[in-house]
Amino acid sequence: MASSKTLLITGVSSGFGRALAQEALAVGHKVVGTVRSAQAKRDFESLSASSAFGWVLDVTDFGAIDGVVSEIETSVGPIDVLVNNAGYGHEGIIEESPLSEMRRQFDVNVFGAVAMMKAVLPRMRKRRRGHILNITSMGGHITMPGIAYYCGSKFALEGISEALSKEVKPFGIAVTAVAPGSFRTDWAGRSMTRTPRSIPDYDEIFDPVRKAREEKSGKQLGDPRKAARAMLAAIAADSPPVHLLLGSDALGLVRGKLSALEEEIRAWETVTVSTDG
Ligand code: NAP
Repeated sequence: MASSKTLLITGVSSGFGRALAQEALAVGHKVVGTVRSAQAKRDFESLSASSAFGWVLDVTDFGAIDGVVSEIETSVGPIDVLVNNAGYGHEGIIEESPLSEMRRQFDVNVFGAVAMMKAVLPRMRKRRRGHILNITSMGGHITMPGIAYYCGSKFALEGISEALSKEVKPFGIAVTAVAPGSFRTDWAGRSMTRTPRSIPDYDEIFDPVRKAREEKSGKQLGDPRKAARAMLAAIAADSPPVHLLLGSDALGLVRGKLSALEEEIRAWETVTVSTDG
């Protein structure tokens, strides 16, 4: 295997975070994983007596993050790789979904991730090395009705990741936005927040989307262990990608979006360039 590294992964109780931790431990990396209960910490640490370190942290506890990162570096060692994985999906039509749900979605998926990055960056910059992986989503590139707050949060994290990669490349720090398609995790099950329906006008456009997502939960195409191996390949690469799609569904949908965007740009090009001068 490639050289052993210390990974800090947020949200290792299930799904991608758990799978990545397990695959990383299996190839000899150390993993510090954040969880949200003492029981989940014990479960996580039982994966490896010597190399799995659990830390209780809600990523929206912004005031605690710097202290946690500092404690980890003192007791476990320098963090080579930060994986901002903790996140969840809000599902609901914009008109029906309170603004408080959007705030919560952005607090976890965007502000939590940025707070983690801001805590590790001074240390990585001093060492002139490091890698940050942000788990975004194909929903950070494409959209569908009824999942606007989630897509908004993942578009934000895609944009922030790309801009940050340009800021920190001179210091030997890589940033990779990992955008998975649909995978068999708890995302569409226990973790999802679903705003109740209230406006019948949206029944036609949204009810089939909600129903299909509920029915597909647990039977999605993607295998989180294979996603974990793909992320480990990116971590081991000399030149990691800034954007990495995972899954053939993500590939097809994002390519479709890019060609539709290109077509629309071309159709309106005359108007676009008419504003110069
Ligand atoms: P998951 O099985 O539900 O895992 C989510 C993890 O995030 C859990 O460990 C959860 O902890 C943790 N978490 C949630 N809110 C948190 C908070 N405020 N503070 C700290 N930890 C928190 O789902 P998953 O699919 O693996 O999700 C991981 C990431 O992948 C998310 O960012 C998600 O948006 C993204 N993603 C998933 C898919 C997919 O199809 N599965 C596709 C694209 C992107 P608890 O156990 O304490 O709730």
